[in-house]
Amino acid sequence: MTVVTRIAPSPTGYMHIGTARTALFNWLFARKHGGQFLLRVEDTDRERSTPEATDAILRGMDWLGFDYDGEAVSQFARADRHAEVAHDLLAQGHAYKCFATQEEIAAFREEAKAAGTSTLYRSPWRDADPSSHPDAPYVVRLKMPRDGETVIADAVQGDVTFKNENLDDMVLLRSDGTPVYMLAVVVDDHDMGVTHVIRGDDHLNNAARQIQIYRAMGWAEPVYAHIPLIHGPDGKKLSKRHGALGVEEYRDMGYPAAAMRNYLARLGWSHGDDEFFSDAQAREWFDLEGIGKSPARFDFKKLDNLSGQHIAASDDAALLHELEGFLAATGQTALTEAQKQGMAKGMYTLKERAKSFPELIEKARFVLSKRPITPDEKAAKSLDPVSIGILNELTPQLRNASWSREDLEAVVANVAAAHDTKLGKLAGPLRAALAGRNVSPSVFDMMLVLGRDETIARLNDVAA
Ligand code: GLU
Repeated sequence: MTVVTRIAPSPTGYMHIGTARTALFNWLFARKHGGQFLLRVEDTDRERSTPEATDAILRGMDWLGFDYDGEAVSQFARADRHAEVAHDLLAQGHAYKCFATQEEIAAFREEAKAAGTSTLYRSPWRDADPSSHPDAPYVVRLKMPRDGETVIADAVQGDVTFKNENLDDMVLLRSDGTPVYMLAVVVDDHDMGVTHVIRGDDHLNNAARQIQIYRAMGWAEPVYAHIPLIHGPDGKKLSKRHGALGVEEYRDMGYPAAAMRNYLARLGWSHGDDEFFSDAQAREWFDLEGIGKSPARFDFKKLDNLSGQHIAASDDAALLHELEGFLAATGQTALTEAQKQGMAKGMYTLKERAKSFPELIEKARFVLSKRPITPDEKAAKSLDPVSIGILNELTPQLRNASWSREDLEAVVANVAAAHDTKLGKLAGPLRAALAGRNVSPSVFDMMLVLGRDETIARLNDVAA
């Protein structure tokens, strides 16, 4: 059996972080098994679905690197096929025409509520003789089993049992002949050959109803895996209150996609004690058994931590490329060729201890800025007359240095010693001269990245 999974988002806003995690699990599972991963846009709800929201989903998938097989499927475009299946069920006697009016059903519910009895509507048309059918609008309802139980053998939740007496004869076609969402999902999953339905556990109750359509049609049932929803750090369902919910907000905060994938994988799934891992490892390790039964809590610190590790472990050129993508996505000015060269040269040190692209850019100020460097307020304080005097002595010695790290360290140490001062004391004025700030990569790394001419020119700028 070839594994086929899918992500089936409803395009009604931004791409939710929970959708991204569900997509990741489906993607990893399909790729691990050499199967297919499909994308279906569930745009049946015409009032809530927008093309902008579909675009946001496509951008999110693209950013996260979730390559799906084939074209994205529009659920709405398949409405005729959904209706066809409803008519099939009708013809086979698994569904029936229900002529009850909205008013009748509402009145029934009201009475049941008042009497404190079940509000589950039992249509009198289920077993009616077709000869008694009026010439009036009707909906098509599925004949649900009424006795016994339906057991969903869920790969995450275990066996989940539903009493069939609680299932209503769900509507498949509305009175205008349009199919409902619950039917569309099943028909699409069947037609797309989906073998594993991995999705949020807010759909677990739907599974008990959806599976009846498979059974009535005699279709192979998929494996269900319902994953607990993501909670905030306080244990409540993740909401705006906790922070960003949209995938693109995380892109805009400057987290690399690989870090996001790693973090999302750990959000509800585990492989031993492994926290930091690569895509290849995730693909190799991912399984449904590793998905936890209780909701995972979103932890921004952990995301930062993993992000820093991914940045540090990245290939320099790939990181620079992704940084350029970040700048473009967030509408910031693109890097010039010279800036790119400087960053490429300095990436080995820039990527240490940067948890996001904005932090990386902040560290790279010294390569991104052009002479003359204007020190910020704090850095300006390091450039007192005494310090400038020492820098003025240092400059000619640097001119003759070999520009190896050892040599640079020795030259600076000698000048410091001559003034009976610590090397650390010289770091402040040097940072101010080279980067215009007090916080920067090490002065030796900056000198190595900037090169002799630029370093000396910057020192001369402050002397002047
Ligand atoms: N469209 C549904 C959602 O966005 C997913 C349905 C499914 O996965 O079966 O929640």
